[in-house]
Parts: sequence; C-alpha cells; structure tokens
Amino acid sequence: DAAHSSWLELSASALRHNVAVFRAVEGRGGPSRALGVVLKGNAYGHGLAQVLPLVHEGVDILYFIAPQDALKVREHERALGLPPKQVVVLGAVGPQEAVVLAREGVDAVVADRGWEDAVPVLRAAKLPRPLRVHVHIDTGLGREGFTLAQLPHDTRFLSDARDVLEVVGGLSHFANTEDVTEQGYALAQVDAFETGLGVLAELLGAAATGLQRHIAASAASLVLPRARYEALRVGISLYGLWPSAETRLSARLVLGEVPVLKPVLSWRCRSQVVKWLPANSYVGYGCTYRTSEPTRIAVLPVGYYDGYPRLASGKAHVLVNGRRCPVLGRVMMNHLIIDVTRATADEHPVTATLLGRDGEESVSADALAGWAQTIHYELVTRLGAHLRREVV
Ligand code: PLP
Repeated sequence: DAAHSSWLELSASALRHNVAVFRAVEGRGGPSRALGVVLKGNAYGHGLAQVLPLVHEGVDILYFIAPQDALKVREHERALGLPPKQVVVLGAVGPQEAVVLAREGVDAVVADRGWEDAVPVLRAAKLPRPLRVHVHIDTGLGREGFTLAQLPHDTRFLSDARDVLEVVGGLSHFANTEDVTEQGYALAQVDAFETGLGVLAELLGAAATGLQRHIAASAASLVLPRARYEALRVGISLYGLWPSAETRLSARLVLGEVPVLKPVLSWRCRSQVVKWLPANSYVGYGCTYRTSEPTRIAVLPVGYYDGYPRLASGKAHVLVNGRRCPVLGRVMMNHLIIDVTRATADEHPVTATLLGRDGEESVSADALAGWAQTIHYELVTRLGAHLRREVV
C-alpha cells in the first residue's frame, strides 16, 4: 500500500543535537533561559505527531498558532503521565477557545482589543484560575500586537480583567535580524519592546514584575544576545536549518564560531518505473525536455501534490546511490521523472533522496527552495500532511 508514496525520515539525534546547540547558546554569560520550540505549521511540516514526543522532554515551552494543536500537548502528557510543560498559543483565540485553554492551563497571546469580548465569556465560565496571557507588542513587523501608540489605551481593559486574564508575559517578533553589517532595525525593535514593556508595567503595577519576555526567534537567539531575555522562541533552527545565509555569517562574528545545525528531515521514495528511452525522446508534459542520448529514466511517485515544487522543474536534482540525478521536464502532480543513467546499472526499483543526504552528496531544503524561487520555510511547511513520517 505504501508503494505509490514517498516518506519523510526524521532524525531524533539531529533534533537532540540542535536542542543542545541552543542550550549552549542561551546559557552563555547569563542566567539560564527557557528554550521554546515553535511547532506551528505541523511542526514546520516535519509532523507534529512525530516531533512532539521528540522535543517534549528537552525544551521548556511549546509554541503553536492553533489552539487545537496546543491541546495535543496536554493529550500527549496525559497519555504518558508526564508533567505539563508551558504551552503558548501565538495565534488568534476565540472566547470559547479561551475558556478551553484556561481549563487546560495553556497560555494565550493578547494581540488586539478583540480580547475584550472574551472577558465576559471567561467570567461566565467560572474558571478555577485565570487564563495566562502574554501581551504582543508590535515593535515594527506591522503584524499582530499593539503598536506603541495603541498600547497605553488599548490594553487598559486588562487591568480590569485580572480575575480572568493574568498577564504573565510580553512578546514581540522581529521583522529582520539577518543583516550582518548592521542590526539597526532589530535594535530599534528591541528598544520599542522595552518601551512597550514599560507601559505594561505602569498599567499592571506589581503584577508586571517578573513578566516572561520573549522576542527572539532562531536568528536573534543566535546573533542578537541583547534580545534573549527570559525565553527563546525557536523554530527553523531547531529543525536544523539556518534562518538565512546572513545569520550564519553573523553567527561567526557574534559567537566566534558557526554552530553546527543538523537537518532533521530527509525525504525519500522508491521509484515506480525504471526504463530506457531512446535518444530524441520527449519527457513529461509540454515536451519541454528531449533526450540527447539513450537515457535511463526513473519515474518517482512524488509531485507537487506532495510538496515538491513545480517551479523546481528544469533545475532540481535528486540523489540515487549517492549520485546527482537531474529532474527531467516538468514536475507533475504525482510524478517526477529523473535521469538515472549514471547512477545505476540496472537496478529496479531505485531509492531516491529528494531532500537529505545520500553518501557524499546531499540536497538541502535551501537548495530545493532556491530552485523553486522560494524559501526553505515555505518548502518544508508545504510537505504534504499525508506523507508517511518515520522517526529514525
Ligand atoms: N515567533 C513567531 C511569532 C513566529 O511567527 C515565528 C515564525 O515565523 C517564530 C517565532 C519562529 O521563527 P524562526 O522559525 O525563524 O525561528
């Protein structure tokens, strides 16, 4: 039944390694901070069901966008009898969902005045304890959160809602931490963050002392020490990918070395068909490729439905037996045709690596994303939820 499919392999040891890298980074020259992993987007496409058990023990905070995903942490903990970890829903939460989160002890983020509507609903629910919330300050991304101009007025309702909303943290998100030569915009965001936190402190008085402050995602956690505060909110790099080439360069300057991040994910499949085509044969839709010599092709059961980007047509290669095999013609919905003439003698089926290492060669998420004119964030989060995921 798995013949017509590809599968993802998740390396538990690579994930453990990346967690250790961030533990080492956050422990430098300061108090120990909470390490949080961002599990939104189906754990960056890696598969929440597989990643959650791998990271639960090693990290302190689990961040999500959707409330229903966050609740899976509590299910996992109950099933295994584990103590509850801090869980934060970064995304939008409706009033009824807020009630569920409060009951489950999951934190939410107050990012706009719409939260005023949740206050009577939370009161009516007669909860044993208030919902823990973090206030999102928009310091320059122009996305969620209260701008500095809005903050003093629009968060006032919080001081009258302490019975149901307990402010436990303040957060923000960077627009750009990647620039090697100057981090001017990021530093201005840090300044704005501190100004915003000051406004919250005035509003909340003693309740604002000991707020958990978190603004650093992967890049800032690595290269902007001033932004580390009490908690790191790390996504892409815990999966073993650099946020950008610039961050990697900055890491050398800031940390004095480039930490090794190990990609957690590999993507493999077995060929469906392997055969010879004579010279001058067309390959694939649109007849965009024509063989110039007798060519041994393999048809792979992978296509854009699975998340292999069509825009990579004509540029990408995959690996077979440690050799690069060009993708011929167009990427199709469920098929990919590759040239295996130089990679195999006559084996059939062949195993192909679409992402990851095979022998001396590897195809990085960066490379495949680059062929498709996108970024690795988009590439990995679009890997089909239907793909089989194996922890190796
Ligand atoms: N925090 C927020 C609010 C985010 O939206 C994201 C991802 O986009 C992250 C943290 C993690 O970012 P990164 O994957 O660059 O570490």
